[in-house]
Amino acid sequence: MIVGVPKEIKRMENRVALLPAGVSILKAHGHTVLVEKGAGLGSGFSDDLYRDAGAEIVDDPKEIYAKADMIVKVKEPIGYEYDLLRKDQIVFTYFHFAASRELTEAVIKSGCIAIAYETVQKDDGTLPLLEPMSEIAGRMAPQEGAKYLEKSMGGRGVLLGGVPGVEPADVTIIGGGVVGTNAAKIAAGLGARVTILDVNLQRLRYLDDIMPKNVITMASNEYNIAKAVRRADVLIGAVLIPGAKAPKLVTKEMVAQMKEGAVIIDVSVDQGGCIETIRPTTHDDPVYVEYGVIHYGVANMPGAVPKTSTIALTNATLPYVVELADKGFEMAIKTNKELRRGVNIIEGKVTHIGVAETFGLEY
Ligand code: NAD
Repeated sequence: MIVGVPKEIKRMENRVALLPAGVSILKAHGHTVLVEKGAGLGSGFSDDLYRDAGAEIVDDPKEIYAKADMIVKVKEPIGYEYDLLRKDQIVFTYFHFAASRELTEAVIKSGCIAIAYETVQKDDGTLPLLEPMSEIAGRMAPQEGAKYLEKSMGGRGVLLGGVPGVEPADVTIIGGGVVGTNAAKIAAGLGARVTILDVNLQRLRYLDDIMPKNVITMASNEYNIAKAVRRADVLIGAVLIPGAKAPKLVTKEMVAQMKEGAVIIDVSVDQGGCIETIRPTTHDDPVYVEYGVIHYGVANMPGAVPKTSTIALTNATLPYVVELADKGFEMAIKTNKELRRGVNIIEGKVTHIGVAETFGLEY
């Protein structure tokens, strides 16, 4: 199979969909890999590294789309890419169709086979191609919190871990899933006093077992949230209700009661956020102040660390890429349920119920 890796064209997107290591595995399996010139530069991988691994470096993305049986990307196609998609071509990337009717219609019109990273799903319901990004955002959250707590950044001037004789900062995390667990691990490692709230008691039992002593768990309800938010130096929003907007668990009245110079990092902002006063921000201009509290609402946090993000993402995607290339589309989805759940549109027909329902399309 010919596998094509175009350079991402979305603003500030520095990730790439395949590493030189991935190229060499695909080559060993007898496939041809076309990589657009400069595709890996944003993540620190030069054309020479790809060439040495056996890729053909191509100047023009049009040539890649014209020749490749499968396009492997990071973000959904945009702009001129719509017209380059071809009938029967596999396109494997994050699509997030429900967020864009224009994209959905363009992909339907193209006749390509769209397999969305975000809906590839294991039998236990977990989403293996979203997990690495949640791990990164979770681990970044206390790091960003610590940064904005510094006086020069407008914060309270408090060191997350304290020092002997000085108490540490309080970090409150709402949601103990992938983001929340990773955030707790890092915050606890830095020496903060950490509180995790979740509605799932089974999850709290597990966290209580594995977390160090400076992490406590609390059942998530309005009373406990208000209490934990009041004492927080850093408040991290990490809830998810699959397929729905995040519930507004922290009201503006609760934010108004927080300490002056405290920091809110609402990781769930990409689903609308669980804090009433949060709004989406960008890496260019990540924070704003409301009620004297610093708000950080970057919706694509992993974009700040493209090298780590690219490696983490491709670690998770590569086995699927190799399987699709080796078996071809029909056989791959017949034998792999996880991949089958990833198929959203085939040759003009929507095959994912969520996408069909969002736009009232035939399913
Ligand atoms: P997850 O499903 O692993 O965890 C979500 C947790 O929220 C679950 O444990 C669930 O029980 C809990 N929850 C649900 N309702 C709750 C409530 N009322 N109170 C407390 N807890 C509640 O999800 P995740 O992978 O950790 O993702 C969390 C959020 O982070 C999602 O919105 C995801 O899209 C977002 N995210 C954002 C970025 C970013 O860059 N901003 C990156 C990755 C993920």
